[in-house]
Amino acid sequence: MTNDRLVQLTSKASVAAAFMLIIAKLYAVYTTHSLGILSSLFDSSVDMIASIGNLIAVTIAARPADHKYQFGYGKLEAVAALIQSILIGASLLFLVSEALQRFFSNDITVTHSTTGIWVMALSIVMTLGLTAFQRYTIQRTQSLAIKADMLHYKTDTAVNIVVLISLFLNTYYNNIDTIACIGICGYVMWATRHIVVESLEVLLDKEINVKDQSNIKAILNNHPSVKGFHNFRTRSSGKRIFIEAHIEMDPKLTLVEAHNIAHDLKDAVEAVYPHSEMIVHQDPVGYDESSERRF
Ligand SMILES: [Zn+2]
Ligand SMILES: [Zn+2]
Repeated sequence: MTNDRLVQLTSKASVAAAFMLIIAKLYAVYTTHSLGILSSLFDSSVDMIASIGNLIAVTIAARPADHKYQFGYGKLEAVAALIQSILIGASLLFLVSEALQRFFSNDITVTHSTTGIWVMALSIVMTLGLTAFQRYTIQRTQSLAIKADMLHYKTDTAVNIVVLISLFLNTYYNNIDTIACIGICGYVMWATRHIVVESLEVLLDKEINVKDQSNIKAILNNHPSVKGFHNFRTRSSGKRIFIEAHIEMDPKLTLVEAHNIAHDLKDAVEAVYPHSEMIVHQDPVGYDESSERRF
């Protein structure tokens, strides 16, 4: 299976899982009147909306470049991840306010908690299965969208476990789940910031990681006709990498020779980074360009 298809399949699986969880939790809320299950139902609804958004992003983001979007649609993945992180933040605030209300009101009457326990146990098993699948896909594809999606369902597992424990313990002590819930919210907010930072980096055209940069620079330096280079810069979009550089070459080369060197470099880089596109500008070595030089 290709990476794109795997990302799409994973994305569809999470939409389906979220939908089933919502149905099961609706039934559980109806029979138990548990606030805990209600907040986890809310959490699952946000997940489903976000997963649908993700599915759109990974199907459209995987489309090849066309004449209107010549750099492709890769950045849609980062946009989806960013929107999801905002949704997670909002659902966490909701959970905290639920927990605080519960803490100060102390009037929860949970009925038929056995039904609730079964539904929450089922939710945990389903969510664990889904996150295992997502982890496998991330390992193979590094997809940002699936990473953001998985964070959601990891939260879900924690929330489901808290609700499950609270259903067991609510006859003894009402506030134990409230405290745990607030703790989990804090942890997930802390974890979400990575996704926000990574998405913003892609959207703002941050340089690719230093290791790949130096690999590419080494390829340029290894060519016998390359006397040096400057204005090297990179950016990424989805799985694509865009590279630019000014290559310094012997001023006496013919245009055909210089052009061949440029193509050699492009081929050498693309052999190591198949999803890269490199554009080189050809400079005669020693030519004074102090005004146009960058880093
Ligand atoms: Zn130059
Ligand atoms: Zn050419």
